[in-house]
Amino acid sequence: MPPPRTRGTALRHRLAELRGPDVPAKALDARALAALAANPGCARRAILDGAGVNKAALASALGAPSAFGQSQFALTRGNAFEAKVKADGGAELLRLVHEKLDRSAEPPTGARVPDLTATGPQGRTARTALELREAGAHPGAWTLLDHPMLALDVAGSLAFLEPDAVVVHPDGSWTVVEIKSFPLLDGSADPAKVGAAARQAAVYVLALEELAARLRPAPRVRHRILLVCPRDFSNLPAASAVDIRKQRAVTARQLNRLTRIEEIAEKLPEGTCFSPELPADELTAAVESVPATYAPECLSTCELAFHCRTRSREEGAVTSLGRPARAELGGLSTVAEVLAAARGETGDPADPAVAALRRAAALRAEALEAAACR
Ligand code: SF4
Repeated sequence: MPPPRTRGTALRHRLAELRGPDVPAKALDARALAALAANPGCARRAILDGAGVNKAALASALGAPSAFGQSQFALTRGNAFEAKVKADGGAELLRLVHEKLDRSAEPPTGARVPDLTATGPQGRTARTALELREAGAHPGAWTLLDHPMLALDVAGSLAFLEPDAVVVHPDGSWTVVEIKSFPLLDGSADPAKVGAAARQAAVYVLALEELAARLRPAPRVRHRILLVCPRDFSNLPAASAVDIRKQRAVTARQLNRLTRIEEIAEKLPEGTCFSPELPADELTAAVESVPATYAPECLSTCELAFHCRTRSREEGAVTSLGRPARAELGGLSTVAEVLAAARGETGDPADPAVAALRRAAALRAEALEAAACR
């Protein structure tokens, strides 16, 4: 077997081939990494993200453009809210961190807000690491890092990640801050949106943990993050501490699985390429050569959702009915198989899913008969 460095170079070369000649790699961000964790079994998404394929461009080239992403209006409103939260050297943001996460510490007056300007993502990552180390040399002080840059090794290549803020507490511990524009109504927000923010924050926490592990003594990365949102329908900030331990564990497991990108790539036919410049039929064949596990949740997390949903429906795949239904159906993977099992034409009667389907079919037949006799 070739040494790891040679294998890493070969994998990078293979991934560049899959992306297409001269197609720049799309950087993996925390949102993409978090979405990967949301559908861990999808080899299609794993290889496309691993190869840095621009999935929005790919979806358009396949004739199924994504309806994904924020509107310009939402982006502008979100940026204005973030600027308000971070005004005056982040005074309000730090007050919220103190109130929600570290009440026993001294209130954050005169916090350090270092300049993180540098050239390129590598330069910004190095600058962030330097300032986090420097913050450790100021025990008792609060430090706010506004839009730091973190790096995380994903399948042999570096993903650069930019949290909204990282706060260094007086005890030297680090907290991730996420600023979102969805409202906190009476102290709570849409659970789906909070879940997505928590998965994104978990990626930042993992990147911070990689960095912290290189420092002596290693600072503690807190597993409760601060989520800051507009209060009710105003643009006043409100905050909530969110425990992301579960999301962190799931994301860490999934990122470890991503190392198997090499295995997915090995199974693809020679010459497979996902360049959006290719004719649609060639591109469709390339995309279809990688197995996918479509679920309705893909609609809110993956740019290829419309393409995969159409394919999944054409194949009659039960995954398009949603994960709960899929889980109930055991080894039955298509609607045709489910119906045949319910009619008693196929399937092992000892299989609990088959038995439940036959019982349901019998009850339905009984109900229809009774209705017809009335
Ligand atoms: S939309 Fe398709 S590629 Fe994306 S995660 Fe779902 S099944 Fe995978």
